Amino acid sequence: MSSSIISPEEIAQSSSAELQQPSLSAAAKTARKVREDLRMGREHQEGRVNWITAIAMTIFHIGAVAALFFFSWTNLAVAMIMYFFAINVGIGMCYHRLLTHRGYKTPRWMEYFLTTCGTMALEGGPIFWVATHRVHHQNSDHEGDPHTPHDGTWWAHAGWIISGRALHSETALLGRYAPDLTRDPVHVWLSKYHWLPLTIAGFLQIALGAALAAPGHRVVGALGMVLWGTFLRTTLGLHATWLVNSATHLWGKRRFETHDDSRNSWWVALLTGGEGWHNNHHAHPVSARHGLAWYEFDINYYGIWLMSKLGLARKVQIAKFDPANPKPAGM
Ligand SMILES: [Zn+2]
Ligand SMILES: [Zn+2]
Repeated sequence: MSSSIISPEEIAQSSSAELQQPSLSAAAKTARKVREDLRMGREHQEGRVNWITAIAMTIFHIGAVAALFFFSWTNLAVAMIMYFFAINVGIGMCYHRLLTHRGYKTPRWMEYFLTTCGTMALEGGPIFWVATHRVHHQNSDHEGDPHTPHDGTWWAHAGWIISGRALHSETALLGRYAPDLTRDPVHVWLSKYHWLPLTIAGFLQIALGAALAAPGHRVVGALGMVLWGTFLRTTLGLHATWLVNSATHLWGKRRFETHDDSRNSWWVALLTGGEGWHNNHHAHPVSARHGLAWYEFDINYYGIWLMSKLGLARKVQIAKFDPANPKPAGM
């Protein structure tokens, strides 16, 4: 199996001119097929709607609005705790900085726990997320980028999620971009059943909401807690993450002259725990720290720093640059 896996670097290096040669090696032919199958830009999606995702997104948005009629301080607290574990710990610290870019190392059991937190964000399993994001870095704001604002602001924000081919289920294809994860049966399992932890958490919230409510108000208590803890906080988390794809490729400051339109956005950084320092990130993708100046608030990095102090994270990569002459990594 391993002989058929092509690394993202090999795929990127196989230029189209090279691929047209008749004496193509088997590896180059496979690389070409992967490039063709995985073209993720808007023009390759043929205007199709991914109905399962579109319906799920609609239900979550309706639930998010409904939650506003069930406010309580307890529901707000549950939503904030769930948001922190799904978006900061799960997406920022794990899916992005650990699994996609390997900006630090952590024990396997910890990696699986953090990945389970990531599934709580309803952003798909780790293989889908990591592969899609590696394609984004390979083609940023060029042809094949899954979500560049060049294809429209709405497309970059949410259009790409509800349109196009259902790549979530094409684990074998996506696995070409995440061979490190497809080799791991736990990551394969979590990718297949990525909806399960979120569902279990939802039922636990229903039980807790009912248990905490006064007799006679148990249905309202249960409904309110699951609407806040699952529907509202998931919807807000999705938009915060999507803003990294839309807003930080459109608005903000550029410290580094990268080959894309990435920008540093303080307000997206506040919503996502540091992911908004996106120009810093495109310039230094492996760095576990995205906020590179003291005033660039980066709570996800502070989490990784805390893990390292507790002996749970090692080999933490931190970008170094000259503020007077900032250059992207490798330049
Ligand atoms: Zn980007
Ligand atoms: Zn990235």
